[in-house]
Amino acid sequence: MSKSTSVIRHKTNVVAVRSILIGGNNPVRVQSMTNTDTTNVNATAKQIIELFEAGSEIVRITVNNEEAAKSVPKIREYLLRKNYDIPLVGCFHYNGHRLMSATPECAIALDKLRINPGNVGFGKKRDIQFENFIETAIKYDKPVRIGVNWGSLDQDLATKLMDDNAKSSQPKAADIILREALILSTLISAEKAENIGLSKNKIILSCKTSRVQDLVAVYRELAVRSNYALHLGLTEAGMGTKGIVATTAALSILLQEGIGDTIRASLTPAPGEARIKEVLVCQEILQSLSLRFFTPQVSACPGCGRTTSTYFQHLAQDIQSFIKQEMPIWKEKYKDVETMNVAVMGCIVNGPGESKHADIGISLPGTGESPVAPVFIDGKKAYTLRGDNIAEKFKNILTEYVEKRYST
Ligand code: SF4
Repeated sequence: MSKSTSVIRHKTNVVAVRSILIGGNNPVRVQSMTNTDTTNVNATAKQIIELFEAGSEIVRITVNNEEAAKSVPKIREYLLRKNYDIPLVGCFHYNGHRLMSATPECAIALDKLRINPGNVGFGKKRDIQFENFIETAIKYDKPVRIGVNWGSLDQDLATKLMDDNAKSSQPKAADIILREALILSTLISAEKAENIGLSKNKIILSCKTSRVQDLVAVYRELAVRSNYALHLGLTEAGMGTKGIVATTAALSILLQEGIGDTIRASLTPAPGEARIKEVLVCQEILQSLSLRFFTPQVSACPGCGRTTSTYFQHLAQDIQSFIKQEMPIWKEKYKDVETMNVAVMGCIVNGPGESKHADIGISLPGTGESPVAPVFIDGKKAYTLRGDNIAEKFKNILTEYVEKRYST
């Protein structure tokens, strides 16, 4: 089965963030953000490790006051003590210029700085404070993400565009003007940063909205008008299924068009829910689009009236857990094992066909079918399993297949 993708990536500048390269032909990177109080060094460092272990290649932390700024180098020390070399991004709003100049060790400990041009200051102070922030980034050789957000858009710019539109003979819809304000705020800020002295390959842009169609329109335009590396994310995506679906819809459209160099899923976790879900969602999006591979995929049919027992659901879950348990070892020993497709199917209708398309698949007997389960390997029927321990037999066959197919 072909694992390749026909996506042609939008050509962007390459930005180095610690050991990670972003943009150009580099893989689309998975990013996440902590939700701990940054001044709680242990809790924040532990969550950074948790996110990194789950697959987040870059982790962003809030730097909202002096104490948080002073905690950043301590968090870095904690990570290094535990042998974790994790790219960290500091997220600044309102007082970033002041925190960075008052606590240079914070800037030094970070690998990238995020600034929101809508939250830099007001009136004349805005430009001065933006300049101070960028100068500090240049001084410590740090890349900057200029991250504009629908919820904190530069109001002066938005008002000016709205006023100009109102005077026009053919005024456009308000949401078109607001999208343009977002794009302009991002590009004007990037240009200002370059004029201050920040080089192109130190700039990443993001322009987040909470509505899928706005996000798609805005990023398509950014990709046409610039070559800066782009960070994608649907802001305030929400909780549960809604947040995951909306994020997936928005990011998939753009990624399929080759737009996006880093991604984040801004999901609201349910109370007590693990923060790592946002990382897993990003990985699933990239893997579903065949842009990157992280772990073997298990395809399972949804079941229907032909599967009156839950046996095949249990088997699909069991195989998925087995793969998850084995992957840390398989990853070390077997090259490209993460690209493997496994099918677990409920009956004869689509079972054999889908199993043949997978690298390895099993088609279970549906209700009333003869109690045998054919196993297909690389498109050919290789075994017929019977009896009570089909799951164990299939896991043994799967293990043998991995050893044989992915050994270097
Ligand atoms: S493969 Fe069989 S059990 Fe699964 S959804 Fe299709 S018809 Fe139903």
